[in-house]
Amino acid sequence: MLSAQEAFQLILKTVKPAPPVQRSLFDAWHCVLAEGTVSDLNIPPFDKALMDGFAVKSSDFRDGKATLQIQETIYAGSVPTIALQSGQTSQIMTGAPLPEGADAVVQIEHCQIDEAARSVKIDTGPMSPGKNMLPQSSVLEAGAPVLAAGTFLRPQEIGALAETGSPTVMVRPAPTVAILATGDELVAPEESPQAGQIRNSNEVMLHTQIQQADALPRPLGIARDERDHLRSKIQEGLNSDFLLLSGGVSAGERDLVPDELEQSGVRQVFHKVNLKPGKPLWFGVLERADGNPCYIFGLPGNPVSSMVCFELFVRTAIRQFMGFPSPKPQILPARLCNDFHSSGNRPTYQPAQVKWEAGEAIVSPLKTMGSADLHSTVQANAVALFATGNQHYQAGFKVDVFLW
Ligand code: AMP
Ligand code: MG
Repeated sequence: MLSAQEAFQLILKTVKPAPPVQRSLFDAWHCVLAEGTVSDLNIPPFDKALMDGFAVKSSDFRDGKATLQIQETIYAGSVPTIALQSGQTSQIMTGAPLPEGADAVVQIEHCQIDEAARSVKIDTGPMSPGKNMLPQSSVLEAGAPVLAAGTFLRPQEIGALAETGSPTVMVRPAPTVAILATGDELVAPEESPQAGQIRNSNEVMLHTQIQQADALPRPLGIARDERDHLRSKIQEGLNSDFLLLSGGVSAGERDLVPDELEQSGVRQVFHKVNLKPGKPLWFGVLERADGNPCYIFGLPGNPVSSMVCFELFVRTAIRQFMGFPSPKPQILPARLCNDFHSSGNRPTYQPAQVKWEAGEAIVSPLKTMGSADLHSTVQANAVALFATGNQHYQAGFKVDVFLW
């Protein structure tokens, strides 16, 4: 059976980053840059005052004191017209350009203005060139790189792009992800299940996981374990960039999903991965006539399996599609809080609670009744990975965890 590492490799080999699209910065939040950007100007574009006060020549000061003749007032957005000579100053506002000859700004609180004499008496602390001002191009020079391809756009990157003259950017779009829950036993969450029925919790849980991954969910409702119904629902789902099916991928007689997918022209990449929970995971690709493939995951129906498989594998595929340079889940080493006995016949991803003590991650594996026990995950903010076999781990032992 395929190892989880081999499954990751096959996913990364199969899923191609989406073709870049141009987006306004207003629509680029949480996208990944497809091309690096450069600044079209110096930052700041001019020697800039960082305080409201007076622009001065620092050489005019003795023990932080000077009395200077006021020349003009320079507001943000205006341009100074008078170059300062020794003994002269101009009143200046935060964000305004310093006049020629000035090399520092004194804050208004340290200044006593004599309106009649058009002079100002200043008593400030130690004075040196560069005080309370930002020299032209000290942050960034025109033509310098601002952000590299592969950068994930948070609010501060979006602002930096606006500042440096990139009002639109090339990014890889988020995928549309269709969700199809399968099973004759399923009813909608708002219904009261009759004998033998359960509520369809996976659809809305996957919907939320897709949102959390910055992708666009397209819920398709429930497909019955019956070929014609399943096939028409699959056809609908294959119009999205991804199709996630929940259930119907194990060895049961009514587990029709793998067969129906292949009947629909989907090429299987793998079926079954050596992990617990999540072994029946199915992955394939449909090469569409328009050149845009659809990537299909058949997720096991048990809710914890579905959740683990999404977090490990589907999220990786979505991140690859969106152009993340490191799409795989981040591994965090954490110390076991207490002794733990693991007896899985496959590498086991155990719901766990991680907390931080003195900067170190401490993990407590949680009791679980298995892959149908969604409630054990409500307490969890991570899964901890334990190797195959009957093994006793002592408190303090370091294990790999994946944060949720
Ligand atoms: P399956 O993979 O179809 O054999 O389903 C495995 C288990 O998961 C069964 O107990 C199902 O009832 C349950 N299950 C399947 N689909 C869902 C769903 N959408 N929501 C909650 N449980 C489900
Ligand atoms: Mg089923």
